[in-house]
Amino acid sequence: MAGIVLLTSLDAAAEERWCGLLQDALPEETIVAGARFAPTGVAAGDVDVAIVANPQPVALAPFTNLRFVQSLWAGVEKLVGLPTLRRDVPLARLVDPAMSRAMAEAVTAHVLALHRDHARFARGQRDRVWSKDPQKLAHQRTVGFLGLGELAGASIELLTPLGFDLRGWSRSPKTIAGVATFHGDDGLATMLGEVEILVNLLPLTPTTERMLGRPLFQRLPRGAMVVNVARGAHVVDAELLAALDEGQLAEAVLDVFEVEPLPTDHPFWAHPRVQLFPHVAAQTDPVTASRIAAANVRAFRAGRPVANVVDRSRGY
Ligand code: NAP
Repeated sequence: MAGIVLLTSLDAAAEERWCGLLQDALPEETIVAGARFAPTGVAAGDVDVAIVANPQPVALAPFTNLRFVQSLWAGVEKLVGLPTLRRDVPLARLVDPAMSRAMAEAVTAHVLALHRDHARFARGQRDRVWSKDPQKLAHQRTVGFLGLGELAGASIELLTPLGFDLRGWSRSPKTIAGVATFHGDDGLATMLGEVEILVNLLPLTPTTERMLGRPLFQRLPRGAMVVNVARGAHVVDAELLAALDEGQLAEAVLDVFEVEPLPTDHPFWAHPRVQLFPHVAAQTDPVTASRIAAANVRAFRAGRPVANVVDRSRGY
């Protein structure tokens, strides 16, 4: 009998909640959470599907007959290189319209707040300083996206009617209505030279890791603003702080960090030009995500193509 194991790094209560939702969405399957796998008597060798949320690498080791792995998270950087996960086993990542919508709302909120100088006015209120500059309208503001995938696409859809001058950079060439698109190294250099608000929505791969460092910041116009809602390891923290202190960057909005929770002594916490969020831009919704994972498991069982399979060589 083939079975499904749920392997996560969540606490036991959260893992049980996921297990219940997945079981409800897949009543025809037997789903066992990794934490209580041993007492069930199900043999690890009989499990052919794993549903995972950043499990400990060792947790996958007993399941040597996996034929499909579904991630409950959108980012899969912790899974792609795992020695305990065979490269020939299809690995699907989560693409959930509810998550895309949440990201679009977060990005739109950050872009509008930066565009309208909210952080500067908050500092003015704190210091009782009445100061204003001529205002810019959205069509006079360039917003550039690093990455033009699911989440950037949803964000662009929400920003477009506001009239921003939108740009975007991806690995392969793309055509998106109302967006000037770029690809490749030359394309990146051209785009960065014109971007006032830069939004990072790249996956974390060996190519994109530490990309948001001094050389990239230097290519932006002086006083540009950066929003990182992708992964903390995209940013070289010390170089971001230096760019803020030198005035090359005016503001940074950070939702993700290399170490999470961000250690309480990290300089980001107290920096006047950093707005910090505890990885809340687009959280996985267990209800919608369970249904999406279930649909993919059913496709796998029926021999149909599974959606959103990760390309192991690209890393996303
Ligand atoms: P996606 O659909 O895979 O899109 C990735 C985009 O990045 C694609 O346009 C891809 O180009 C581009 N890209 C990848 N490597 C590149 C490179 N070396 N050079 C240029 N472009 C490159 O990913 P997504 O679903 O939008 O998610 C993006 C990331 O958001 C996730 O990986 C995750 O880390 C993060 N995330 C954060 C949160 C949060 O709450 N903060 C929530 C969910 C996800 P092509 O189109 O040419 O392939």
